[in-house]
Amino acid sequence: MTTPLTATRRVPADLPERIQHYIGGRLVDSVDGDTFDVLDPVTNQTYLTAAAGKKADIDLAVSAARKAFTEGPWPRMLPRERSRVLHRIADLVESRDERLAELESFDSGLPITQALGQARRAAENFRFFADLIVAQTDDAFKVPGRQLNYVNRKPIGVAGLITPWNTPFMLESWKLGPAIATGNTVVLKPAEFTPLSASLWAGIFEEAGLPEGVFNLVNGLGEDAGDALVKHPDVPLISFTGESSTGQLIFANSAPFLKGLSMELGGKSPAIVFADADLDVAIDATIFGVFSLNGERCTAGSRILVERPVYDTFVERYAAQADRVKVGYPDDPETEVGALVHPEHYDKVMSYVELGKNEGRLVAGGGRPEGFDEGNFVRPTVFADVSPDARIFQEEIFGPVVAITPFDTEEEALALANDTKYGLAAYVWTNDLKRAHTFAQNVEAGMVWLNSNNVRDLRTPFGGVKASGLGHEGGYRSIDFYTDQQAVHITLGGAHNPTFGKAR
Ligand code: NAD
Repeated sequence: MTTPLTATRRVPADLPERIQHYIGGRLVDSVDGDTFDVLDPVTNQTYLTAAAGKKADIDLAVSAARKAFTEGPWPRMLPRERSRVLHRIADLVESRDERLAELESFDSGLPITQALGQARRAAENFRFFADLIVAQTDDAFKVPGRQLNYVNRKPIGVAGLITPWNTPFMLESWKLGPAIATGNTVVLKPAEFTPLSASLWAGIFEEAGLPEGVFNLVNGLGEDAGDALVKHPDVPLISFTGESSTGQLIFANSAPFLKGLSMELGGKSPAIVFADADLDVAIDATIFGVFSLNGERCTAGSRILVERPVYDTFVERYAAQADRVKVGYPDDPETEVGALVHPEHYDKVMSYVELGKNEGRLVAGGGRPEGFDEGNFVRPTVFADVSPDARIFQEEIFGPVVAITPFDTEEEALALANDTKYGLAAYVWTNDLKRAHTFAQNVEAGMVWLNSNNVRDLRTPFGGVKASGLGHEGGYRSIDFYTDQQAVHITLGGAHNPTFGKAR
């Protein structure tokens, strides 16, 4: 919607002017005193400076986390005791959801209503793992009369958590919850575009009673602080969420240390709409699926494949509805698409909008909304008739931009759906049960939703295939990633071993 801007923007009260690291239970500046600027996405003015961590700061944080792991109580506490702390963290996050949401929305440009949903989801992540660790059972294997084998599950050590700027607080919680629930200690390196909400963790954890040194946070650029964390020999685990190319670099940099890696990477997920689908619902869902969270969403259905008999109707209705999506100030509860996170990202998204004008037929959006002369605002943009070799079909744009492509047969739809390097999510819209399941099972995606938006049960595996990720987290898979499963073998009765070197 391009009505001129009339609303006044609200700036949260008590915004900090500087953000420090949190190491060994203390807020500290960088060893070299360096800082970086953080911009507000609506004005692109610097509103705070954050400590810029480097190797020296990471060394201190890892050493604090290592000490808490080897000498502190946390890894040795009963699951029930750790669970109580996690529930208190969840309660605190829940009770501060509005403050969290206003800070997140201000820092990242996410619409306030969506930021609020993400804050609540963050609380839920802690609650979920608080429950899971007390319900956790481990395998035992019996060989009757001869041997008993059981799994002794142990925390691994210091986990390095590296997170992106889209829904930052929620994605941090997604790693922090299972990492600490299982008894590890952590060093978090949040994204440099959005460090504000992460600065609240220290206070929340202290109030909840998390022992000193279990949680450490170092702000800074990826190539400095992130790189030093990846290359630190005392960090055996790296859980990373971000771009596929960064994931490749981290993979290479972790190789000399043979680190445990979990990688949640980029996506270019297809939404496939068959002619028999309920078009009203499919249109609503595919609009939400790409324009929610400003389109800065790893699982965005950013390629829509539509069966030819309903293609023209779909495109016409989709474009009209996309045009009505309300772009506005992030703090306005009416806003559906806010401001993109950073001018660099805005330039990237806008370059794809311009590219798309040559690669497809522009049917909605295509530039800046009227009345928004500054800040990172982009109109929801829809390109139709996009061919599979177009860059806007192949490359992750990570903004409110969607490509629509027609297909004639189910085989063609599957080939189109699988025709990118990514494989994170897929959304299938059809009322044919057999086709829905067959298609879901053949599509190259870590997660598939049938006649559904991206609604996720926290127990299910989360992760992508191909360039979209390595490994799975979610439910017990997160517990598996953050623990070693030591096998203990016990002989029953006499020892059952052949004797070498027997006296003859
Ligand atoms: P990014 O890869 O640029 O940065 C992610 C994090 O990695 C940041 O904290 C950054 O500082 C750090 N980093 C950068 N270079 C590094 C290096 N050399 N060593 C160590 N750390 C380094 O990603 P982004 O732009 O912040 O986030 C957007 C991307 O994240 C998109 O591709 C999106 O699809 C992806 N993402 C994926 C999921 C998922 O679950 N699959 C979820 C959210 C976002």
